[in-house]
Amino acid sequence: MLDALFFRRWLSAAADAVDREAERLTELDSPIGDADHGSNLRRGFRAVAAVLEKEAPDTPGAVLMLAGRQLISTVGGASGPLYGTLLRRTGKELGDAPEVDTARFAQALRTGVDAVAALGGAAPGDKTMLDALVPGIDALDDSLGSFGAAREAALDGALATTPLQARKGRASYLGERSIGHQDPGATSSALLFAALADAADGIGGSREGSRG
Ligand code: ADP
Ligand code: MG
Repeated sequence: MLDALFFRRWLSAAADAVDREAERLTELDSPIGDADHGSNLRRGFRAVAAVLEKEAPDTPGAVLMLAGRQLISTVGGASGPLYGTLLRRTGKELGDAPEVDTARFAQALRTGVDAVAALGGAAPGDKTMLDALVPGIDALDDSLGSFGAAREAALDGALATTPLQARKGRASYLGERSIGHQDPGATSSALLFAALADAADGIGGSREGSRG
């Protein structure tokens, strides 16, 4: 079962990963954006880690909703409201359950990803974060809860954005010139799935293999 501590561990691992990869995320955002994705997310996830440490919410839903609100209030770029919505919507879906199983979390995360698509008006193939989020959540479902499988699928999805032409966000202003560059938001989404797998490893492995 996944409790509040697991979700705090996930977001703390995400903050570390974003911190480590911030320069690269900003570099990816320079040819097809405004070179701020890494600094945006670094500021946002540092604030998330700080508020979670201070308030230590005791249910998964409260952890995710607090983190989402923090991202929305600290990140100026498009990615702040989008990631904030992802976490808030997922958290809301989990209600006040003290712990949730992987299937319930996957279902809630799917709702969160759908909310990102609704807010941004984007679909997979538009060269956005959805190109990693959707394959990640699909793999989590297909594998019956393997966070390792979700991590691989999200990373593959991010890498597969390179040949795509952007149809949403700043990169879409470039038209065909957006082709040939990996999307920064899909890249950071892959980091979030990697952090999830790290957090699951921290509690003795994800459910990989446990369902035969
Ligand atoms: P901004 O574009 O405002 O500078 P960021 O640089 O922080 O914001 O984030 C850019 C990323 O946000 C893009 O790489 C893309 O993945 C994602 N993004 C932008 N617009 C949308 C949208 N409408 N739907 C989904 N994701 C989007
Ligand atoms: Mg940007």
